[in-house]
Amino acid sequence: MWNSPKVGILGGGQLGRMLVESANRLNIQANVLDAENSPAKQISFHDGHVTGSFKEREAVRQLAKSCDVITAEIEHVDTHALEEVASGVRVEPSWQAIRTIQNKFNQKEHLRKYGIPMADHRELVKNTPEELTEVGEQLGYPMMLKSKTMAYDGRGNFRVNSKADIPEALEALKDRPLYAEKWAYFKMELAVMVIKTKDEVLSYPTVETVQEDSICKLVYAPARNVSEAINKEAQALARKAVSAFEGKGAFGVEMFLLEDNSLMLCEIASRIHNSGHYTIEGCALSQFDSHIRAIMDLPIPAKSLEIRQPSIMLNIIGGATPDSHLKAAEHALSIPNASIHLYSKGAAKPGRKMGHVTVTAATMHEAETMIQPLIDVVDDMRA
Ligand code: ATP
Ligand code: MG
Ligand code: MG
Repeated sequence: MWNSPKVGILGGGQLGRMLVESANRLNIQANVLDAENSPAKQISFHDGHVTGSFKEREAVRQLAKSCDVITAEIEHVDTHALEEVASGVRVEPSWQAIRTIQNKFNQKEHLRKYGIPMADHRELVKNTPEELTEVGEQLGYPMMLKSKTMAYDGRGNFRVNSKADIPEALEALKDRPLYAEKWAYFKMELAVMVIKTKDEVLSYPTVETVQEDSICKLVYAPARNVSEAINKEAQALARKAVSAFEGKGAFGVEMFLLEDNSLMLCEIASRIHNSGHYTIEGCALSQFDSHIRAIMDLPIPAKSLEIRQPSIMLNIIGGATPDSHLKAAEHALSIPNASIHLYSKGAAKPGRKMGHVTVTAATMHEAETMIQPLIDVVDDMRA
């Protein structure tokens, strides 16, 4: 049967949970490797799950034994474990792609060979004030000091406004492998979900992302006030960047739209991505549906990736109290056209993604009007 292969997922957080929702609808069994009772496991009852961490070699081996294809909801996995099991099970995307992408500096060095426009950057090898001072002279201020690895939600970034900030920046990111990036003066942040199949590289339309404190807060699909030409250009850039990597599945591509309307790549994630959550309600096939299909070589009609109605996605982030996310969700219950997704992560911590809400409407203006009261509630609950 076409749906009998078992899919193994490294990581059972909200992205794994939404992947499981898609797999479930096709009667595909998804075996999740993560802690007992992780969000993805809570909605999937069978005996194929593995308890452990996606950073443990032995746990990845155990998952590989029970699956036909393995994928990951996170890029910070043990790629040596994936390399080892790749002789016996398909790993999608490839462990090489995940290994290169999980190190943001290596990712950029790789993409440079393919002519992808990016902010100028410099590697740090000594992580000393003298070295960063020299880099500051080359890149100018402000510049963004970044951890090469284990970065997410901006935890790993430090804005260095002047030479005076250097000691604080190095202290904030101490013991991490570092590089620095020239400041990108963008007028907007854009993102594209790319789906790599066995013989095609497809893309969803270009969306606009709004980050607050370096965490994605809002996604507008399609991007507002962006010409069709830029929308197409961003998709082409995203597909070109993803084509530089081996393997199948969804890739999230973040970009900057600069003042002169040129585009620059911010970073790639080798997985389903927060900027693509709107596709659950906004498109015929969600990014999770497409990812499952891509890694199982099932058909993906390109038309199914088009946006059916303008959509806005708002992240529900842990706020001032452990239950503020529930108050936000409760408010969303009364908003027309609002689809609520709670991730069942337990008590919230400030800054932790606890859920999201997507509103779709006939026009972007209508969607904006409908979601505004919820944005106000979320703003009031900020930690
Ligand atoms: P994610 O959660 O998306 O994985 P991350 O921790 O990997 O985030 P980045 O995506 O590199 O971090 O950066 C987070 C945000 O910081 C960007 O979306 C952008 O708003 C800002 N930023 C990053 N690099 C630069 C830059 N060179 N110039 C200006 N702003 C930047
Ligand atoms: Mg990142
Ligand atoms: Mg990012």
